Amino acid sequence: MADPLAHSVERMKTIGLLGGMSWESSIEYERIINTEVRRRLGGTSSADLLIRSYNFADIEQLQAEDRWDEAGDLLAGDARRLQQAGADLIVLCTNTMHRLADVIEAAIDVPLLHLADATARAVMADAVSTVALLGTRYTMEHDFYRGRLESHGLEVMMPDDAGRTLVHDTIYGELVRGEIRPDSNAAFLDVIADLVTRGAGGVIAGCTEIELLVGPDDVTVPYYPTTRLHALAAVDAALGCG
Ligand code: GLU
Repeated sequence: MADPLAHSVERMKTIGLLGGMSWESSIEYERIINTEVRRRLGGTSSADLLIRSYNFADIEQLQAEDRWDEAGDLLAGDARRLQQAGADLIVLCTNTMHRLADVIEAAIDVPLLHLADATARAVMADAVSTVALLGTRYTMEHDFYRGRLESHGLEVMMPDDAGRTLVHDTIYGELVRGEIRPDSNAAFLDVIADLVTRGAGGVIAGCTEIELLVGPDDVTVPYYPTTRLHALAAVDAALGCG
């Protein structure tokens, strides 16, 4: 049977989004991806998306109870289902759950567009070599993310223990709940200022909700918002220029 979408801009690829972690940031993925596809292709063009959006309370519980194997089974199963439904690539809309990138990759035959790779490429393009990483404790303190950035040749710094607590607690206590507070913005800027004083040449917003709180104009060094970078990399891949 003829493909009814065959005329569709030389078969733009279908992006499978694993989102809802939290939805506050995955709607930003959708908005950025669709806006960029329209910007590049014009007219009424928009992205070809398949979306699996979780109840984040379930995900948070699996993380907090250290049930990463179950979380891996969940994400890998849904990545496979997105592929079966027609996804040509998978985008996991959270830095933290990239801890399970290997498990997901093993379950699918299409590419998983790794968030840390998209981020590292942007940092390297600016010739920044020492970069601060803000994110959940899982992302900042475990090797799955920092190590991936370091594999690109980057030196990665993180906040001190008090700073990590502040960033982690703000993510789970406010940002994933849709609360954007000026006092938390100021507190994040203090953490960032300390990292810049200690030598950071750039800052990675390594949690997909942080860029809802802190924008590039707030920061005196190059700023790397991972939702935006990942979403634009997904558009590149979907349009065959990634
Ligand atoms: N969205 C966040 C991230 O990018 C945190 C939520 C989660 O634990 O997935 O890491």
